[in-house]
Amino acid sequence: VAARTLQINSMSTEKWAIEGRFVNPSHTPGVLEYIENGLAIVENGKISSFAKTKSEINLLKLEIDASCPTVSLDQEYLIVPGFVDLHVHAPQYAFTGTATDLPLMEWLQNYTFPAERRMEDLEVATRLYNALVKRLLLNGTTSAVLFATIHLESSKVLVDICQKMGFRAFIGKVAMDQHGAENYEEETENSLRSTEDFILYCNQVMSDCHSSKPGLKKLIHPVITPRFIPTCSEELLHGLGELAKKYEEDGVYVQSHISESFDEVAFVKALHPDAAGDVEIFNKHGLLRHRCIMAHGVHLSDEDLHVMRETGSSLACCPLSNAFFAGKDLRLKRCIEEFGVRVGLGTDVAGGYSPSMLSSCRQSVVSAKIIGREETAEEVKATDVDFAFAFWTATLGGARALHLEDAIGSFEIGKEFDACIVSCKEGNFERFESEVILQKDFERFINLGDDRNIIKVYVQGQLVHDVAGAV
Ligand SMILES: [Zn+2]
Repeated sequence: VAARTLQINSMSTEKWAIEGRFVNPSHTPGVLEYIENGLAIVENGKISSFAKTKSEINLLKLEIDASCPTVSLDQEYLIVPGFVDLHVHAPQYAFTGTATDLPLMEWLQNYTFPAERRMEDLEVATRLYNALVKRLLLNGTTSAVLFATIHLESSKVLVDICQKMGFRAFIGKVAMDQHGAENYEEETENSLRSTEDFILYCNQVMSDCHSSKPGLKKLIHPVITPRFIPTCSEELLHGLGELAKKYEEDGVYVQSHISESFDEVAFVKALHPDAAGDVEIFNKHGLLRHRCIMAHGVHLSDEDLHVMRETGSSLACCPLSNAFFAGKDLRLKRCIEEFGVRVGLGTDVAGGYSPSMLSSCRQSVVSAKIIGREETAEEVKATDVDFAFAFWTATLGGARALHLEDAIGSFEIGKEFDACIVSCKEGNFERFESEVILQKDFERFINLGDDRNIIKVYVQGQLVHDVAGAV
């Protein structure tokens, strides 16, 4: 079957409807709503009506015009919200699936910095970033928080590609002025200037895209991106904190890595012997705040987690790369339920080898089972993650981490329609029961599904990926 990733240039204002089986994250963490018969009306990219029973559907059908185009899906399909990937390194897509043999600090020097340095060449960056965004879309990811590189121009290329493909993206030009590599480090002043230039560029692109889509949230957001504490001088961190304050009203985001691994924690201790750790240093410079996504956080103390909650900062849990680098796992469920921290999932391409959020979901389940092995039955209950909890975290959890739970992450009236249509007859998917059970089809998708099952992807109600002729 031919797959195509469409290039979106303009917003269609049409009204259309979609009918079928929905799986919808609820307001309670980890709890999903299974809707056997649902009908959503999408108007100008937003859900304007949502009927969840046969009788509500019949009523709603009386209201909509017979000419309203409707996608009607039988029991071979599921409609689910698109994935929100909170942590992706766009340039590292070049070596995705490899480089799984070194600890973090050596991995940076041997694989990461050389790969990132190549993005200086705009042709190389254009080719790679196009491939990455296509890949994310065909894996059902509708929003992603991306690190680019230290290069301003190729970071702008990533912005343009996301905008062109209709992908919801939070993009950072990386800032780092020490402990990088040869030809892969910036002067402090240049780093601050190009970070500000990048914010202004994104704001320009955003206002263009916003004026063509009034009422919808903007698709492209700039992110202030200190790589991590070891590669940033205090002066740089301070300057980036000032920029976060300056552009707060424009909705600028911040991202970095926090308490990621034993070797990173030791490196920070050597550089900042008087500081308690990453949380104290970021917080001192005003970088822990609303719209701040910190990756990993596996070595955060309970007090640190309180600071994360109080500052409105979020965590990107990257279970796959944590398994390779962190030496520990994040207690995902406790962070959300006990500490009230906003947590979503990230693939961490390419520290995590897979660009699919299904892989992150599965690994978060496996990691929680492994953590639970050494614990009492009571503790297991508090830390266990199942497929439903993982999916909730990968969708609405990510939306909350972005402070966008009013706009994306689930299906509700007023939210934007970011969604995937899942086929239950492709790939590894096989049903042997005579009865069709929605919850089992969904569990099978989380555990066995892949891009073959994801046949259509929508962002803001726009079809952005389509396996031609599938429905
Ligand atoms: Zn990372």
